[in-house]
Amino acid sequence: MTLSSKLTNLLPIGLFHSDLTGRILYANQRWFDIANTQLNNNSLYWLHSIHPEDRTRVEQKWLRCLENHLPFSAEFRYQHSNQREVWVSCQIVLEYDAQEQAIGLIGTVSDITDQVKQNTMLREKRSDLEQRVEEKTADLRAKNRWLQQVLTQRKKAEADLREERNYISAILDTAGALVIVCDPAGIILFFNRSCQVRSLFSSEEVKGKPIWEVCIPKKDQKKIKNVIQQLAFGDEPVKLTSKWINNQRKHSTISWTNTTLRNENYALTHIIFTGIDITEQLLAQEEAQQHQTELVHVTRLSTMGEMAAGMAHELNQPLTAIVSYAQGSIHRLSSKQPKIKDIIQALNQVTSQAQRAGNIIRRLRKFVSKGEYQRSSIDISKIIADAIAMANTEIKKHSIQVNYEDSPDKLLVNADTIQVEQVVLNLIINAIEAMNTSPQHSKKLSIKIFTYKDNYAHIRVSDNGEGIPSTLNTDRLFETFFTTKKEGMGMGLAICRSIIEAHGGKIRASKNLGRGATFHFTLPLSTS
Ligand code: ADP
Repeated sequence: MTLSSKLTNLLPIGLFHSDLTGRILYANQRWFDIANTQLNNNSLYWLHSIHPEDRTRVEQKWLRCLENHLPFSAEFRYQHSNQREVWVSCQIVLEYDAQEQAIGLIGTVSDITDQVKQNTMLREKRSDLEQRVEEKTADLRAKNRWLQQVLTQRKKAEADLREERNYISAILDTAGALVIVCDPAGIILFFNRSCQVRSLFSSEEVKGKPIWEVCIPKKDQKKIKNVIQQLAFGDEPVKLTSKWINNQRKHSTISWTNTTLRNENYALTHIIFTGIDITEQLLAQEEAQQHQTELVHVTRLSTMGEMAAGMAHELNQPLTAIVSYAQGSIHRLSSKQPKIKDIIQALNQVTSQAQRAGNIIRRLRKFVSKGEYQRSSIDISKIIADAIAMANTEIKKHSIQVNYEDSPDKLLVNADTIQVEQVVLNLIINAIEAMNTSPQHSKKLSIKIFTYKDNYAHIRVSDNGEGIPSTLNTDRLFETFFTTKKEGMGMGLAICRSIIEAHGGKIRASKNLGRGATFHFTLPLSTS
């Protein structure tokens, strides 16, 4: 072995020299090792040890190199017997003679397996990294998309909320009612347009002030403060009525109700006061009350009118008696020996008859008087007895048998005597009228007072008159202007019902099994 051969064998790269057919003329040991082949005379025999997947590519490159006289550079694999692949980097140049004629090829192969492996590993790592980056990016992109969505939703929610707030305040502003929103301490946060119009204060003027200091007079301020305190502990609305004085000292009456808003911890965040001006309503109620009183009075006068003839007759009796006793007394006094004892007796009669007449007139005056409502705790039996006494002339005139059954216990009711008397009198007069067509001596009026254990006095007025038509709903009798009488007004029973209900009782009518009708009413027993 020549020195140069020895030296080339020591080189870490493989060297080979071939003719133009690819027959190896020389190769160092390293080349044989890398190419995994022996020296052989065949052309291109070494191609067989190239990895089958790379072989054609290398062969084509080799041919192109020869054809175009261009250097050859390629990376490919040798297939070693033990399935091991050896990657090489191969550089081939053409060899020329002195006449510049290509005569052979000189090539080098260097083992780049580690490098390729490393590159592959790096590539894999890179692709792994890239994949992870891609995944991360996709993840971030998704998160970003989600955030964008959240942001959009939030913006929309905020816009909706703003719109809703505007919408709600627009509604609250158009509401006719007074709406004031306060914080839990009662400090005004919102004062709707209705409040501004009625109070003549602008929203800016009142915001930040305690609600009780705006338009509420001193005497009602405590009520509002108490409500605010109450609302902090319970959310049941607390109703109250207060006066409201506007910026020009005009007074009105407001009926307030309230609602509370709480957070997730149930802590009070806002109180909404809603107020309705009830000034007109109160005036109307007062007026209606006034009308009702007048109506009651008018119907009482009308009842009296119906009984006027009888009353005149009743009054006539004591007056006639007075006249006759007075005449008797004059007669006795003009005699020569007047009997003083007889005269005194006659004058006593005059006094008692005058008292009788006076009583009748007093009762009448009391009954037709336009007195105010006056309720007191009074024995119901006394009211009924007085009413019967008032109707006495009518009772006698129509030959009515009265069966009056008083309660064994004294029943006290909290009532306006004249009004309840009016009810009873009305029922008695109606009963007498209903018995108009009944045969004489069979007309029966029964009046009973009793109580159950229900804290009510029950009064039952029953007759055996013409009764109520079977097809007629008895409730209709109590309707205003319902009458079956030629000269009737149809007001009596309607007034009776309003009087009894105003006293906390009930009145109804029922058809008797036999002839006639029965009217029942109740009055709550007074507690005192
Ligand atoms: P009026 O007596 O002017 O008709 P009321 O309101 O007192 O007005 O009575 C309404 C109607 O109820 C009467 O027209 C009559 O038809 C009926 N009514 C009242 N009381 C009786 C009664 N005791 N029996 C039968 N019908 C009665």
